[in-house]
Amino acid sequence: MADRLAFLTTPSRPRERRAPQERLGDRHEVYREGALLPVIAGQAGRCMDCGLPFCHHACPLGNLVPDWNTLVAHDAWRSAAARLLATNNFPEFTGRLCPAPCESACVLAIDSDAVTIKNVELSIADRAWESGYDRPQPPERMTGQRVAVVGSGPAGLAAAQQLTRAGHTTTVYERADRIGGLLRYGIPPFRLEKHRLDRRIDQMRAEGTRFRTGVAVGRDVAADDLRARYDAVVVAVGATACRDLPVPGRGLPGVHQAMTYLTHANRVDEGDYAVSPLSAEGLDVVIVGGGDTAADCLGTALRQRAAAVTQLDINPRPPARRAPGQPWPVHPKVYRVTTSHEEAGGAAAEPRVFAATAVGFDAGPDGRLAAVRFAEAEQPGRRPLPGTECTVPAGLVLLALGFSGPEQDGPDRDDPEQDGPEQDGPSPADRADRPGRADRGDPADRGGGRARGGGLVGQLGLTIDPQGRLTRDDGFAAPADGVFVAGDAGRGQSLIVWAIAEGRAVAAAVDRYLRGSTELPAPIAPSDGPLTV
Ligand SMILES: Cc1cc2nc3c(=O)[nH]c(=O)nc-3n(C[C@H](O)[C@H](O)[C@H](O)COP(=O)(O)OP(=O)(O)OC[C@H]3O[C@@H](n4cnc5c(N)ncnc54)[C@H](O)[C@@H]3O)c2cc1C
Ligand code: SF4
Repeated sequence: MADRLAFLTTPSRPRERRAPQERLGDRHEVYREGALLPVIAGQAGRCMDCGLPFCHHACPLGNLVPDWNTLVAHDAWRSAAARLLATNNFPEFTGRLCPAPCESACVLAIDSDAVTIKNVELSIADRAWESGYDRPQPPERMTGQRVAVVGSGPAGLAAAQQLTRAGHTTTVYERADRIGGLLRYGIPPFRLEKHRLDRRIDQMRAEGTRFRTGVAVGRDVAADDLRARYDAVVVAVGATACRDLPVPGRGLPGVHQAMTYLTHANRVDEGDYAVSPLSAEGLDVVIVGGGDTAADCLGTALRQRAAAVTQLDINPRPPARRAPGQPWPVHPKVYRVTTSHEEAGGAAAEPRVFAATAVGFDAGPDGRLAAVRFAEAEQPGRRPLPGTECTVPAGLVLLALGFSGPEQDGPDRDDPEQDGPEQDGPSPADRADRPGRADRGDPADRGGGRARGGGLVGQLGLTIDPQGRLTRDDGFAAPADGVFVAGDAGRGQSLIVWAIAEGRAVAAAVDRYLRGSTELPAPIAPSDGPLTV
């Protein structure tokens, strides 16, 4: 520690954000670039090095938090980067997007402000890129074994990077036209600018990982053929089957899944469209849902100059502080003002209606959506309470109700057709002509023709548990020999930090399967979960 008493003398400093009005004028990240560096050594110095680092255990990656706090406090950035990169393949993503359960578990947080661990992590990550400490690590020798990874979200990417670095020839198959999963087409650029994702993918290419985009395994290439061509297959297809809301009026033009909306908005930033074919501009928007996806819809709608935005959250307003049932060190459910809610006006102009459930969508004289009917949600039970119904005008409804599990041979989430016929703009086929994206590689990956029936799940003999997740044993292995399951596909809808941890752990399992033993780290088991009481 630079100053043993810094936790008493140095106040916590949050990361500096740009002013909401400035942010709404662009889609750049909301935080001010470089603002952390002058203060971060002092912030890292607030770590007490308490000897019982609950932060380390609360992080699914087992990030060595006290170690890098001490190193940053002493300006030892190269060593700090080495410690961070030893446990986390993508700290530039978690440093921006992780909800930081480590901070909830920081010993200082018992009666004070936690160390700003996530900001320290981000500063190390960004500095490592700038200084060349985070450089490609191609394998010293190849094993001669070939691995296919299906899905290019954080789980698939982490698995692929670990396996490539271990010397296995690794190919990532992605059905979308770009790599990245929800990092690419879910999370908006105002929370993660995509050049950061591209930079990481370039690094992986330089290490030897191969990428095949625009290939839906189970549809464009038979999954069992893939299994026959590779020594092992990792299935990291995410859990992107959107929950729906089967209430009267659901089929009206103007009611859409949030992921359709966010995918289009992200495509504007990628240069595919000048204007989103599903824009909120000038419309009264109602977002149904209360999580990250809903907050991302809010921030996007505000940037598109929606006339008004209302968010219906079925849960009651959480308490301002930890409830007695959620004691330290668990990550508590408390009232949070996200950056999107701050842009909507903060707590003073709260767009959320808590304990509210949508009960129907009403059409106007033109047959299009005109209003949402909602009611107070009974707690617990969440049923609409009779006599509480009211309406809010709506020209666009976005359903952000979470995900039920992996998609099973349904339409691509990316496919505008899946969410009603009203959207204009180029078809997916038109878009495929654009340069600079599709990386389809070996024609064998698309052909030998169409896949047989049964899709990925049927062709690989995968099974589904009662929660809708792909089953795997305690070594991430699916029922079929040589097939492994990782990320949201096996865990259910979760977080980036868990996806990276799953990717690292499944890579260790695959390496052991191929070589009989492994030196790769396995930070979690499939049954591990967040700290609970
Ligand atoms: C809008 C939104 C915001 C979020 N914000 C946060 C956040 O701030 N912090 C956080 O920690 N978490 C956040 N999450 C959750 C986080 O993004 C996920 O938990 C994480 O991306 C899961 O990673 P994954 O690799 O398992 O799956 P995904 O990221 O879903 O990637 C799966 C990939 O597999 C591909 N695929 C599917 N089927 C096939 C097939 N048959 N063939 C080829 N490819 C296929 C898909 O196209 C996709 O690219 C958010 C999620 C959403 C939707
Ligand atoms: S990855 Fe998340 S939980 Fe782990 S140290 Fe970083 S912010 Fe904390």
